[in-house]
Amino acid sequence: MKVPFLNLKAINQRDEVELLAACERVIKSGWYINGQEVKDFEADFASYCGTQACVGTANGLDALRLTLAAWKVQGVLKDHDEVIVPANTFIATVLAITDNKLVPVFAEPDPDSYVITTESVKAVLTNKCRVVIPVHLYGQLVDMDSLLEFAQLHNLLVLEDAAQAHGAVLSSKRAGSFGHAAAFSFYPGKNLGALGDAGAVTTNDVQLASVIRALGNYGSEHKYIHQYQGMNSRLDCIQAAMLRVKLANLDADIQIRRAIALRYLAEIRNPVITLPLITDHNRHVWHLFVIRTTQRIKLQAWLAENQIETLVHYPCAPHKQLAYADYAHLQLPITELLQEQVLSLPIDPTMTDVQITQVIDVCNAYMAATTLSEKGKL
Ligand SMILES: *Cc1c(COP(=O)(O)O)cnc(C)c1O
Repeated sequence: MKVPFLNLKAINQRDEVELLAACERVIKSGWYINGQEVKDFEADFASYCGTQACVGTANGLDALRLTLAAWKVQGVLKDHDEVIVPANTFIATVLAITDNKLVPVFAEPDPDSYVITTESVKAVLTNKCRVVIPVHLYGQLVDMDSLLEFAQLHNLLVLEDAAQAHGAVLSSKRAGSFGHAAAFSFYPGKNLGALGDAGAVTTNDVQLASVIRALGNYGSEHKYIHQYQGMNSRLDCIQAAMLRVKLANLDADIQIRRAIALRYLAEIRNPVITLPLITDHNRHVWHLFVIRTTQRIKLQAWLAENQIETLVHYPCAPHKQLAYADYAHLQLPITELLQEQVLSLPIDPTMTDVQITQVIDVCNAYMAATTLSEKGKL
């Protein structure tokens, strides 16, 4: 049986009736930008995350960019200030920093959990650092208790990149409620996905929220009065309506993802596969199930031969990209090792038990296959 990496069509088909009804409601409202749907979703999502405020944005990259830009407008950040960021993140996190004329300082992740640690942040801290961006990579929360304590000690602002971690819980707090602010993406493939681009910032700082809202609305709080040189980055009413439908199912989907991950963790047994390290089940929402292997090309080909689609997140770290040639000299051995070894297995709330079993069996059969072909050579 074919096991697609992520079956978005099947995921959205489950809510087809409600999504269509919500579409119809928006179409018939005649109100498509800055409407009630957006206000309602923002209230729902702030309450879900446990924050005072939520501001919808056009996408996750803009949620990050606008937050850093708002801190510049407020005078707490200035050009060339340094921002600590995981070296193995998706490039958007770094783009948000450089786009604001700030300087990225790359921290190494832990090789087993893939997220940064307070120790790795401490190792790169300079006296120019003003912000740290913990990325809850693949859906697993960074150890926020320890990082927040460190940030407070060194006067760092904390901007969570929660684009992959909607709903993850630590010390009964949800992703997006730990830092001074948090950025979310609702790109269709994320655990909470719109039917197009969408994003949001969550924060308990209502003043910051209103600056972010103004910056994303041409720098304006009142029509035709422009306080800042802003941009146009708003959450569309139609996407807000889709997200309200899908938010209602987020926790159930997280439970399904966890059940799949638990089976993979318990049943994949193969010396060539290193399973991800997790400390606490509530802390991980399994946006991606990422293993490590020194035989990635062969294992990926074997899985593909057996109808299992896999992807690599990410094959090239930001400092190795042409766009960041200025940082190519950096030595980040853990990040560079991960970039060679990580492989993402299918994980999707519409997977059947048969498909999950197939992924496990094919992973476990891989060694047997190589041993067989080696025997064949003898
Ligand atoms: C998806 C993602 C983003 C960017 O979100 P978009 O909505 O695609 O702009 C930022 N950071 C991380 C970690 C992401 O996974």
